[in-house]
Amino acid sequence: MARRSRPPSTSPVGGVCPAPGGPGASLLDREVGFLKGVGPGRAALLSKLMIHTIGDLLLHLPRAYLDRRRVVGIDGLAPEMAATVAGEVIGARVRRVRGGRQDLLATVEDGTGRLSVVWFGQPYLSRIVRPGARLLLSGRVRLFQGLCLVNPDFDLAESGQEPVSGRAGILPVYPTTQGLSQRFLRGLAETALRLAGDPGEDPIPRHILDRLDLPPRDRALRAVHFPSTLEEAERSRRRLSFEELLVLQLLLKRAREERSTAASARPLRGDPDRLRAVRDRLPYRLTDEQEDAISAILADLQGERPAMRLLQGEVGSGKTVVAALACAWAASAESQSCVMAPTEVLAIQLAGALRAILDPVGMRVALLLGSTPGRERREILGRLAEGQVDTLVGTHAIIEEGVGFRDLGLVIVDEQHRFGVAQRVKLLEKGRAPHTVVMSATPIPRTLALAFYGDLDITTIRRPPPGRTAVRTRVLDRSRWDDLLGFIAQRLRQGEQAFFVYPVIEGTGARNLLDATRMFDVIRAHPALRGLSVALLHGRTDISERRRILEGLREGRISAVVATTIVEVGIDLPRATVMVVEHPERFGLAQLHQLRGRIGRAPGQTPHFFLIRPEGLLDEPERLAVLVRESDGFRIAEEDLRLRGPGEMLGTRQTGMPRLRVADLFRDRDLLERARAEAEDLSRADPNLHEARHRALRAEIDRHARERTRLLGVA
Ligand code: ADP
Ligand code: MG
Repeated sequence: MARRSRPPSTSPVGGVCPAPGGPGASLLDREVGFLKGVGPGRAALLSKLMIHTIGDLLLHLPRAYLDRRRVVGIDGLAPEMAATVAGEVIGARVRRVRGGRQDLLATVEDGTGRLSVVWFGQPYLSRIVRPGARLLLSGRVRLFQGLCLVNPDFDLAESGQEPVSGRAGILPVYPTTQGLSQRFLRGLAETALRLAGDPGEDPIPRHILDRLDLPPRDRALRAVHFPSTLEEAERSRRRLSFEELLVLQLLLKRAREERSTAASARPLRGDPDRLRAVRDRLPYRLTDEQEDAISAILADLQGERPAMRLLQGEVGSGKTVVAALACAWAASAESQSCVMAPTEVLAIQLAGALRAILDPVGMRVALLLGSTPGRERREILGRLAEGQVDTLVGTHAIIEEGVGFRDLGLVIVDEQHRFGVAQRVKLLEKGRAPHTVVMSATPIPRTLALAFYGDLDITTIRRPPPGRTAVRTRVLDRSRWDDLLGFIAQRLRQGEQAFFVYPVIEGTGARNLLDATRMFDVIRAHPALRGLSVALLHGRTDISERRRILEGLREGRISAVVATTIVEVGIDLPRATVMVVEHPERFGLAQLHQLRGRIGRAPGQTPHFFLIRPEGLLDEPERLAVLVRESDGFRIAEEDLRLRGPGEMLGTRQTGMPRLRVADLFRDRDLLERARAEAEDLSRADPNLHEARHRALRAEIDRHARERTRLLGVA
């Protein structure tokens, strides 16, 4: 195999950014505009890929490789094979499918045969993929009206336009955006590697690299972009991934230690008898997992360290009562608590649920919303400041200026992933180092939890309380609409309720995208539903109308609701037995599972969850089948993580969590465990990483800490 013609001495960077002013630092922090060929226009496009500096560029890793050394003749292809084909385009056309998407269909010939190729939703590729073009295509072969390559990676194979860095025969394929070609990105990567110069110190100490059999950083960086073999590429990627995970683990450790030493909390010494009085009035027995959750939280609350616990459990798993008992404990310790929910509807429901549990024993719950009228608001704030409110429930209205507690000891945040970290921090500042419980119904796979919440304690409720019926999930074609409404009407006439969920409130102009407002009229007018009351509920529905709808549902006057995902979180709909989701392709699996969790609380009825598949969608059945097959939210979340990556899943950018550039938490689960173990060892051997051999690592952690602080917007 051809050796790379680059002399080995032009080795690239060391620590992405060694100690400020250290070798290589200035260059890596330089804006990409510094590079030849990058003007303001391209710099703007690069920033869409989160590439701002040369250091960013080096960590913008290929998402795949085109292996030119393994070109297969078209006559040698078989279904499901991963193959690279070299051929000439003999036909190409754009096809518009229902739903407005445009696909590019092409035929490629290589002397041994012809092959169909399709790129879904990428019509703009037709500028490159046109008759006469010689292409190198790499992807998986599918059987679909004959053999076909679906969404392959590709590149021009013209000899006159030899890609800059393809000498070894393996070409990197980068994540990109319209307007930035692979060729251009390859050239940039090569330049950056050449310029990066002095490798500096490797942040990962030698002994760890040896133990894990990973290459040094400079070699890994070069080989991940321009490998000699695919194995080398993967080993290099894993090395960089390990570094990222190790730094993150050490960072989380540091944050945790800082928290436990910074401020001490008031230990809430509650009154077990008063707690028992609350428990004795519950209309059901707590499950073992609920008991465990409460024990853990009560232990937290009695500590001097400000507790920080994540309570996760699917929708309907019974987190509310756990929260209520925690509030009761705080009240019995003469302290105040507050519970923050992401929407008014949820806050109203939470307040209702907490009152039902706390009122009978004389604990006072107040509700504060953005829409609370001025007089009522002033009255609540007055009582709050005097300590006459035990638990304040509300939306982000409770973090506003002017909301002051007499003694806030416990903060509970429901559906925490919907809040930004900055908002949570603001809430914490209302008390003097209060204890915190964050609740989440988005099951976070263990890997994600470890990676992002390494500094939280985690309690998980896995099994719902008894009495919930398994939901039957089906994927239907739109052609079955009338049958479906007939079926639903029957259920509604027996006093059950149905939800129709749409991805958008109103038409966006996208062709064939159904929206809630339009479908409300369609559904309401459907002959099968004659005489039944249907309501429209979405994010812009005003609060009095929302209250009216929730009341109508509770009293059974309203039979069906056409909604957006506003129903996704928390709304309690005890009689809802049917949910229909249109355009499931627009939702993540975890989100669909959440929606499904809204139904199925009515005893004795089989709840149904229907996903309506729009026409012309080829790749969906596979993904939706996961939902039909799985009912375990954690497994679905793992699958979602695999399919979409953690950023999508948690909205990491929005919540201020660190962004992982290299690590793939699904693929690199083993590395994460190792990183945790090594982080343990390191901090045991050299707690503050003061030893000389850990200097580069420490600098790297400091740099990440600064970045994180900047992201959170807190000092
Ligand atoms: P979530 O975890 O989504 O907040 P909730 O706390 O709203 O779930 O609980 C869902 C429903 O289950 C509520 O109606 C609640 O009263 C009921 N519930 C909670 N715990 C139990 C239990 N141990 N036994 C029976 N029903 C329970
Ligand atoms: Mg809840």
